[in-house]
Amino acid sequence: MATNTVTNYGMLINGEWVRGEKKSSVTNKYTHELFAETTVATEDDVKRAIQAAKASLKEQFTPYERYKVLSKVAEMLIEQKEEFSRILSIEVGKPIRDSRIEVERAAQTLQISAEEAKRIHGEGIPVESAPGSENRIAFTMRVPVGVIAAITPFNVPLNLVCHKIGPGLAAGNSIVLKPAEVTPITALKIAELFEKAGLPKGRLNVVTGKGSEVGEWLLMNKDVDMFTFTGSPEVGEIIRKKAGLRKVALELGNNSATIVHSDANLKQAATLIAQKSFNNAGQVCISVQRVYVHKSIFESFVSLLKEKTEKFKLGNPLDENTDIGPMIRINDAKRVEEWINEAIEQGANLILGGKRDGAFYTPTILTNVKQDMKVCRKEVFGPVVSIDEYEEIDEAIMKVNDSEYGLQAGIFTKDLNLAMKAAKEIEVGGLIINDASAYRADHMPYGGIKRSGTGKEGPKYAIEEMTEERIVVFNL
Ligand code: NAD
Repeated sequence: MATNTVTNYGMLINGEWVRGEKKSSVTNKYTHELFAETTVATEDDVKRAIQAAKASLKEQFTPYERYKVLSKVAEMLIEQKEEFSRILSIEVGKPIRDSRIEVERAAQTLQISAEEAKRIHGEGIPVESAPGSENRIAFTMRVPVGVIAAITPFNVPLNLVCHKIGPGLAAGNSIVLKPAEVTPITALKIAELFEKAGLPKGRLNVVTGKGSEVGEWLLMNKDVDMFTFTGSPEVGEIIRKKAGLRKVALELGNNSATIVHSDANLKQAATLIAQKSFNNAGQVCISVQRVYVHKSIFESFVSLLKEKTEKFKLGNPLDENTDIGPMIRINDAKRVEEWINEAIEQGANLILGGKRDGAFYTPTILTNVKQDMKVCRKEVFGPVVSIDEYEEIDEAIMKVNDSEYGLQAGIFTKDLNLAMKAAKEIEVGGLIINDASAYRADHMPYGGIKRSGTGKEGPKYAIEEMTEERIVVFNL
């Protein structure tokens, strides 16, 4: 039974809030009570949203107007920070202090997108230097791709939505957004802000429902010109296959590794790795999952990490003192429990944690792990860190690279040459030196290789993905 009033959210289609017959429940991830209801989109709703997005492209929406709207929404988001943070904590189960950071970052992402809207440019191409082209000049211009379908995951449901709609709108496109069905509320709330800020109707549409239905309908519709997706590699593969020759940008999973070398500042390494392994209950695509520690400091590092991690307080995400909330679903916590038990049966040592209570899983540290255990090989997406030791740095780098993923990695060392060697040899989209893998500034290029995806985020780079470069040649 719900104790709060349950808000019923519609979907934004062509500037109208549409409420359908069929509803989907969004629960409070801590109490498991009903928190809100959303409409389950029909195939017709999805078609109308795409048509509205397509039609909106005919109306002028200048770079300066895009800048104004995006800046206004960033400003309104900060004004409503507490409300958005509270909703994030309820729908995701994210501790309130972390939710506030997500809201601030989402506002940043929109503000950076606003600024980038004014800077989209091509370049002069010296075609006249080609023999026979002496009387020609050329330049490139960046044109919007058109209608973009944005599909987003549950774990960072506001900022990752802003990483799609911010650059998408800044680049002059129109968007049909499908947020994760378990955490769609902040996406709908941010759409309300866009409407209030004067975004022309149809430029942003939000449709809610299951990925296997709404996602499929988006993929089947040939009026969608591009798909920008953040989520699991399994769904990423479906999207890539069904998108055909259309553009795709895929931000997928990872089993991020961080190396702690013998000369590392141990206190710094343990503090940052503790924070970045267990933040959002480990449900972060770049959270530290594997740590490779030099043999000479292995014992001291493990005990320091244990000491830091023991201090984390599990509890109600709305409580100011909570460090770790529940996982998104009880079933996900059960899966993590199974993988940890399996690793222990296969010889791993449990240093800390290893207990489940409903959707809560205690932060867990394992040693004596093998590369082939699920906790190392697959993406755990839970509060578990596996620590292994190495003697030679080449062995550590080889183990980091022994992964089907390649999003980000970290290395703690004071040795500049070693840091540069790691930068050259570790196969990832980003290497973080003297911090753990889970560092991201919203304007930096961000995206993986291998099974971690294709294409870059960060507004400037996402705008490159979301525009076509057109060459214009003059024959004078
Ligand atoms: P998910 O793949 O289950 O769902 C993501 C989105 O895809 C949801 O909106 C879902 O409804 C939709 N979807 C599901 N089936 C679909 C289909 N057949 N067609 C179209 N859309 C479909 O992922 P999740 O559980 O929400 O999120 C966790 C995953 O996201 C992890 O793998 C994590 O690493 C990844 N992630 C990556 C990044 C990154 O930037 N690389 C960031 C956050 C999360």
